[in-house]
Amino acid sequence: MKKDIDWSNLGFGYIKADYRFVSNYKNGSWDDGTLTTDETVTINESAGVLQYAQTCFEGLKAYTTANGKVVCFRPDLNAQRMADSCKRLEMPVFPEDKFIEAVVKTVKANIDLVPPYGSGATLYIRPYMFASNAVIGVKPADEYQFRIFVTPVGPYFKGGAKPISLRVPDFDRAAPRGTGHVKAGLNYAMSLHAIVDAHNEGYNENMYLDSATRTNVEETGGANIIFVTKDNKVVTPKSATILPSITRRSLMYVAKHYLGLEVEERVIPFSEVKDFAECALCGTAAVLSPVGRVVNKNEEILFPSGMEKMGEISQKLYDTLTGIQMGRLDAPEGWIKVIE
Ligand SMILES: *Cc1c(COP(=O)(O)O)cnc(C)c1O
Repeated sequence: MKKDIDWSNLGFGYIKADYRFVSNYKNGSWDDGTLTTDETVTINESAGVLQYAQTCFEGLKAYTTANGKVVCFRPDLNAQRMADSCKRLEMPVFPEDKFIEAVVKTVKANIDLVPPYGSGATLYIRPYMFASNAVIGVKPADEYQFRIFVTPVGPYFKGGAKPISLRVPDFDRAAPRGTGHVKAGLNYAMSLHAIVDAHNEGYNENMYLDSATRTNVEETGGANIIFVTKDNKVVTPKSATILPSITRRSLMYVAKHYLGLEVEERVIPFSEVKDFAECALCGTAAVLSPVGRVVNKNEEILFPSGMEKMGEISQKLYDTLTGIQMGRLDAPEGWIKVIE
């Protein structure tokens, strides 16, 4: 029985689900893990996560497809990326096959919270890990907890996707050879001031430049960026300090193999942005959000696609990827993990 929820009017907030997955790492190994109804976490006041932010996370979605199956999208890439995050943060890797099993188990346990097809809502899945035992000296903890909770989220764009405005901030997101390429909580803690400041100034998001030279486009605080050239090439910034978005990698594949477009991943100087026809942000939450305007100090760039609707190529990319996700189009091998 589906829960009695007004799916189409859900927001993007936390709603307590019945079950979450918990596994503990102690004495050098992970336990089998279990589902629990307890949504609280009790840890020592000096836990590594509280003192030195030793934590990382993932985000993916489960949804109901056109033919009634509950699926999630490329969870193997989330498992892989979390393993990379853990290694960079000196945390123990939660085995990738066990990660996928745990995602499936958690979604199955909360199957009545997976929104129905056509509602626009999805079940957001949040795997995460944190250092749980007491540390005072600066060193990796010995004990960790891996958890997965789920929460239903509403359609990201109610009443259609309106293009947003970005600004180039005076703040940087990631240092060369730092942690920009892993999904560490610390990357978000330090982005909060920049995002609040952007909102106060009337912008939706920050477009970060590379911090070494401040000349090349990187990404926003929580989404990668794609551009479309005037001759319909899809380009995305290449940089070792960008978080490798699964949505962006999938969109680039779709552009090339489904839409027959030329694609390029390369360094993109900010000076080139004014020449693009379209710009969009990409990530799990919205899949693709059109950008209509970018402001860098006194320079204002208005993309030809305007402030009313998505650009033509962006729309095709969005329709094709969501078509694949929702089972309306054939997916590449291994992209769709059927849960039930
Ligand atoms: C999670 C995240 C993204 C989007 O990645 P997806 O796998 O597409 O959800 C982009 N940038 C940053 C900084 C992120 O943390």
